[in-house]
Amino acid sequence: MQQTTAPLMTQTGEQFLAEGRAAITAAQADVAAFKALAKDASPTQAADALDQIDRTLNTVSGRIHLYSQVHPNGDMREAAEVLEREISAFSTELSLDREMFDRVAAVNLDGVDDGQVLRLFEHSLRDFRRSGVDLDEDSRDKVGALKNELVEIGQEFDRNIIGGGREFIISEGPAGLAGLPQDYIDAHPADENGEVRISTDSQDKVPFMMFAERGDLRKAYNHLCNNRAVPENLGVLQNLLEKRHELAELLGFANWADYVTGDKMAKTGANARSFIERILDVSKARATAENDELLAEKRTVDPGADTLFEYERGFYIERLKLRKYDFDSQLVRPYLAYDKVRAGVMDVAAKLYGVEFRLNDETERWHESVDVFDMLDGGEVVARLFLDMHPRDDKFKHAAMFDMTTGRAGGPIPEGVLVCNFPEPKDGDPGLMLFDEVTTYFHEFGHLLHYLFSGKQRFQAFGGIATEWDFVEVPSQLFEEWAWDPVILAGFAKHHETGEPITPELVAKLRSAEEYGKGLQANGQMFYAMLALSYYETDPKGLDTTERLIELKQQIMFSPHEPDTHMQAAFGHLHGYSAMYYTYMWSLVISKDFFSKFKGDLMNTETATAYRNKVTGRGGEADADDLCTDFLGREYGFEAFEAWLNA
Ligand SMILES: [Zn+2]
Repeated sequence: MQQTTAPLMTQTGEQFLAEGRAAITAAQADVAAFKALAKDASPTQAADALDQIDRTLNTVSGRIHLYSQVHPNGDMREAAEVLEREISAFSTELSLDREMFDRVAAVNLDGVDDGQVLRLFEHSLRDFRRSGVDLDEDSRDKVGALKNELVEIGQEFDRNIIGGGREFIISEGPAGLAGLPQDYIDAHPADENGEVRISTDSQDKVPFMMFAERGDLRKAYNHLCNNRAVPENLGVLQNLLEKRHELAELLGFANWADYVTGDKMAKTGANARSFIERILDVSKARATAENDELLAEKRTVDPGADTLFEYERGFYIERLKLRKYDFDSQLVRPYLAYDKVRAGVMDVAAKLYGVEFRLNDETERWHESVDVFDMLDGGEVVARLFLDMHPRDDKFKHAAMFDMTTGRAGGPIPEGVLVCNFPEPKDGDPGLMLFDEVTTYFHEFGHLLHYLFSGKQRFQAFGGIATEWDFVEVPSQLFEEWAWDPVILAGFAKHHETGEPITPELVAKLRSAEEYGKGLQANGQMFYAMLALSYYETDPKGLDTTERLIELKQQIMFSPHEPDTHMQAAFGHLHGYSAMYYTYMWSLVISKDFFSKFKGDLMNTETATAYRNKVTGRGGEADADDLCTDFLGREYGFEAFEAWLNA
């Protein structure tokens, strides 16, 4: 596929810093202007004045976060980091500005029937109250101090995880790597003492737990992995839980789980708990059957075995897949050259939604490997996308969508960015992808479409992905479904040498193999979700986080706890997501229900258009519950999820 030849950015760090600071100064002026509004200003004028603060910040805030993560120039990244702190300080100050809160609360909404204006003020007041602005001065000071302390505790928790990686030494050398793919063995040669060292990072861990034949080594390695950041993070976690609980109580909530879910679809910690229990319930039969099958597989090697240990699950799943489906993930790679996949993803989106993607050779980009496209609808440019898809030094290491500009009706068009680390086609290397990477491409593109389609709200505050956190993974997980379809896959997955499309037989094998273990997968995910929730739904004073973990493992999981391990110390979501690990599964349930509307006809443009008009196109202008009901014509349910799980 063609690449963009758009020019490279010439802005320096110094210029960017000046631009960012000017925007913050302008936003401060917007705050002053809102406070100075005439008493007889109409609610609509007040709403526009309030929204103006977001509109002003929108000119730089997206790029600030983006550049701090991806910009190739160190001085731009540094300037972006400085601006990130300055914007965050501005936002915190605004959220605790009592005068501003009083002014917003004083806008007279009696008799107003403009739903968007009402929603804007309702959300603004809710967010102010959730930040503690309406408390007495003494409590407000305490809230401020606790928040600052929590930033530091959270950073310490994350830092200890990053710095808590360990080295596993295999004294018998390469023989200890038996069963692993050749490229893994090549990447871990023996040192001068004949020893092999592997790290506890996921790129080393995942293949080792799946393929290493030596069970005793997997056991020892698993023990090491589950003691990362131990003991240091056990105390930090305790502190994090206690301070968050204290803050939640100050803000008028029974516990942190209730506080953090208060503005999400779940609404309370109790609802999140019922959800987790329900998923555990509906996945139980499937998970039990899978566990029995894996145990039977283990008995072919160890006839007397009556337990499958946690360091054996991944290994026996792979063995079973290979025996049952005769599937090896390397078989599909020749069909998945990067350029073909990119064309395929964009082609599906274009056909489904009746839009066109056109290469843009004029808009500046930050690195020569970035491609810029305009999205056209009815011949008109309605959005812009930037694809920064290949690894390089000093770049974000995962896959995510970043916002650059949130669009608005009558304002800027939306500009969204995908940042990924997929193989790069160059010098004759086609950049062959794994199927997992292809589903990631569809996943992230689903986020991007949500962002681009929603960027036309009347108020800035409701544009982009301004929806509830537990709904955010619906459009992304939904779009993944298209990657699994044999006809759609065959449309772009063509052998890089012969041009032959992938066969339906190979796709069928791929699907069976990739979907094997989804009962146990759901079970494991709900264990993590329950662990996170349970840490945050009670007073943590006197809580022994390891005891709680052992208790929940006994209740939920099929494998016993491995003695003297503490996985919670390196469970990073306990900081970033706090009690909300459940959100992925929550979104998946909704996404499976949405997918059922396509009734097996994936290229049904009528359904796709309804989905765009009723869900993604509406951003945060309505509650996610209402978007679901609008699209489905009823409340969302669990039936489609259960049908998928048990298929
Ligand atoms: Zn996602």
